[in-house]
Amino acid sequence: MAVTESARLKEVNQLKNRLYTNITHEFRTPLTVIKGMTDSIKSKLDNKQLDNLAYSFEMIERNSDNLLHLVNDMLDLAKIESGNLELHLKQANVIPFLKYISESFSSLANQNNINLTIYSELDRLVMDFDEEKLTSVISNLLSNAIKFTPEFGKIIIHINQIIQTENDFLFIKIKDNGIGISNKELPNIFNRFYQADASTIRKSGGTGIGLALTKELVSLMSGTIDAKSTLGKGSEFILMFPITRQAPASKKAKINKLSYKSVSNSLPMPSEQVLETDSDLPLVLIIEDNMDVAHYLKTCLEKKYVTIHAINGIKGIELATEKIPDIIICDVMMPGKDGFEVCATLKSDERTDHIPIIILTAKVTIEDRLTGLAHGADAYLAKPFNKGELFTRLDQLVSIRKKLINKTQKEGFNTLLKKRSKNPKLQFLKRIVKLIHENINNSNFGSEALAKKLLISESQIYRKIKAITGKSTAVYIRSIRLQYAKELLLNTKKTVSEVAYDVGFNDPSWFSRIFKDEFGFAPSETSR
Ligand code: ADP
Repeated sequence: MAVTESARLKEVNQLKNRLYTNITHEFRTPLTVIKGMTDSIKSKLDNKQLDNLAYSFEMIERNSDNLLHLVNDMLDLAKIESGNLELHLKQANVIPFLKYISESFSSLANQNNINLTIYSELDRLVMDFDEEKLTSVISNLLSNAIKFTPEFGKIIIHINQIIQTENDFLFIKIKDNGIGISNKELPNIFNRFYQADASTIRKSGGTGIGLALTKELVSLMSGTIDAKSTLGKGSEFILMFPITRQAPASKKAKINKLSYKSVSNSLPMPSEQVLETDSDLPLVLIIEDNMDVAHYLKTCLEKKYVTIHAINGIKGIELATEKIPDIIICDVMMPGKDGFEVCATLKSDERTDHIPIIILTAKVTIEDRLTGLAHGADAYLAKPFNKGELFTRLDQLVSIRKKLINKTQKEGFNTLLKKRSKNPKLQFLKRIVKLIHENINNSNFGSEALAKKLLISESQIYRKIKAITGKSTAVYIRSIRLQYAKELLLNTKKTVSEVAYDVGFNDPSWFSRIFKDEFGFAPSETSR
């Protein structure tokens, strides 16, 4: 009977889907192992060996990344088919986001000598959208456009808001003047595993799954996608998404109020006051010549970080030395000084060498990584990155810093400083300790005097000491004095008062109190 037949077909289909999902899933573990093992082998090699093997590593990484990408796409497709892929909508200004995603492809386009233009008719359009899925859709269409457009070609992304049948839509057109698709093949391009040419024009491999997934994602977002193309002339893909405003608004009203056009040369800098009041939040310096990327980064980071922005490498170095940020995120390709040069300069300056630097790049090739490492970069982020990735990187760097702070506190400065270490952070601390020891009985030797001796400003030294030890300059100087006092008490026959004066305290009872605070026992208890 027809009913049982259709039930049976449904069951078979479900079974097929489950099998497909399971198998696809099974590919992920070995792939992750391959990638992990590659990293682990690499970490055991020295720079010269890495140099020799750079090409092989790059091949392993590129191929496993491609495979992982494909597996993830297939999983997403299966999830959509079984109704298990959910939308994560939020309400926000979609324009800077779209510009940022598109802009992330400009260096890839440049590398292929293709001109990529992003043109938006509006600066602001608040609507519901799913960041991750929209990224996937735009990335897919743009990487196709780049893949199928020869050198000196042109790609235009046109963004607008249009009204059709009384409904508002977000309109995105991605147009290229590349190889085009024939009329015969055009209807099939959204089918899974369909590839139009299979001939020599194909610049790089592909799987024919990208557009199938793109179409599914677009309809999951209640949108439509259309393709027009003329063989030999080029293709255009038109996306339309209905504009709704029901999802919870992301709390970025402050940033969104700022008209995007008014962000001319540099994003508004937090004044000293802002830095003071928000001083609990870490300060991030963004060095990025592209306003869209900078703006996006800034919106990602607000609430958890205070951000300042420099529009090129030279300004970035100036701002880094002036403000001593906690972390720097730096683009590679910039006019003037590129990201690697910025990295090298900051890492060889005593005032800034402790600051972790995240390098932002379009494609993380092994060469990039090596160049970056050689210049002292601490981490990489490939564009377009997602927020999760960004925060993971930032958290990793912050936790490494915390570890060092804990270590300095746990081991006591003295043991740590006795170690022969090339770590610039420890060398800096050693110099400070030496200066304080030289002036230990001078109660006036405080942060101002220290700054003068080190030839850097008080606020620079404050931020640097805070970053390495977690303490303010005054507290740090005091703890060095107390540490020295403890040694005197343990190793000499001096009285508590004598020691107090020796280490620059004019009031022995005050000295006793804070000594107890610092070590948990009174100075008088050491002599016994
Ligand atoms: P692939 O992994 O092969 O790129 P897609 O599903 O993304 O898979 O694309 C399917 C096919 O559609 C491609 O193989 C290509 O033949 C054709 N195609 C997609 N985008 C373009 C474009 N911008 N210009 C020309 N052909 C395209």
